[in-house]
Amino acid sequence: MTVGMFRIRFHGRGGQGMKTASRILGTAFFRAGFEVQDAPRYGAERRGAPMFAYVRAARTPINERGVISNPDLVVVADDTLVAVPAAAVLVGVDERTVLLINSIEDSRRWRERLNLSGPVLILPARVEPSEAAEVGYAGAGCCGAAARLVGVISCAVLEAAVREELASSPEALVEANVHYALHAYRQMEAVSASVAPGKVPNAADYIEPDWVELPFEDARLAAPAIHAALTSEKVPTGLWRTVRPVIDYARCNRCWWVCSTFCPDGAIAVDADGTPRIDYDHCKGCLVCVAQCPPHAIEAVPEHKVRAPTETPS
Ligand code: SF4
Ligand code: SF4
Repeated sequence: MTVGMFRIRFHGRGGQGMKTASRILGTAFFRAGFEVQDAPRYGAERRGAPMFAYVRAARTPINERGVISNPDLVVVADDTLVAVPAAAVLVGVDERTVLLINSIEDSRRWRERLNLSGPVLILPARVEPSEAAEVGYAGAGCCGAAARLVGVISCAVLEAAVREELASSPEALVEANVHYALHAYRQMEAVSASVAPGKVPNAADYIEPDWVELPFEDARLAAPAIHAALTSEKVPTGLWRTVRPVIDYARCNRCWWVCSTFCPDGAIAVDADGTPRIDYDHCKGCLVCVAQCPPHAIEAVPEHKVRAPTETPS
């Protein structure tokens, strides 16, 4: 009988199936006899923006609430997120937290780069973030690996959970995700049960925080102030993109305004002759322009099909 509580966080980008991954893992825990919580957390942005989802599982009722700040397992579906402060991938990671990263780089390099003393594992069946977007629920690979790492979920229970959560999807998509999940599960055999459940919180352990006196500041000093326009130019939201809009200039009829007006990020400029130009440093890949272009002159191309291997973040 497992004693304690598993706390698992999935990090990815909107559209990579992390919410589905957390639901499948939660259902698998439930089928294995656990009490479960699972929930996603999104920011204000949309597709391609950092998001996370979390799962708690225990044999006893779960009274802990809120986001997980002391994870036993962190699963990172997109290794470019590790360098993005807003993604908060490493929050609460300590020497007993297992970090599982979907990456082409090995665990030694990640451990050195992040100066981590705890275990770092690599998801061996690499699921390209852009492929994930194509199949919709490729987070199944991440949850398959996570199911093996906690050591309390059987292969049959995992498969049943994938089928249950994707029951309304087309059969081919369900089969593809069952394959992804079970493949990742089997690939993790050597490190099965390497995630240990953490302590169940007890009210008696509560430590009151020290009282901190803050000096009073009047509103002019305390309120945030923006001193310059166009500060959003300094945030390279193009890093969020998993799918890239590519204009076919042979089909574009230089309508002057549709794509550039609908782009929520102002990432499309229009030349004097009406030719649209996409600023890929700031286009976050929401694909609104693809949907709006009247002659369908903008194609959605997965990033891995346009990105040279040398552009993999170091
Ligand atoms: S260029 Fe297209 S895909 Fe990129 S942010 Fe603008 S509307 Fe979205
Ligand atoms: S909406 Fe389509 S046709 Fe109009 S400028 Fe943009 S790409 Fe060209």
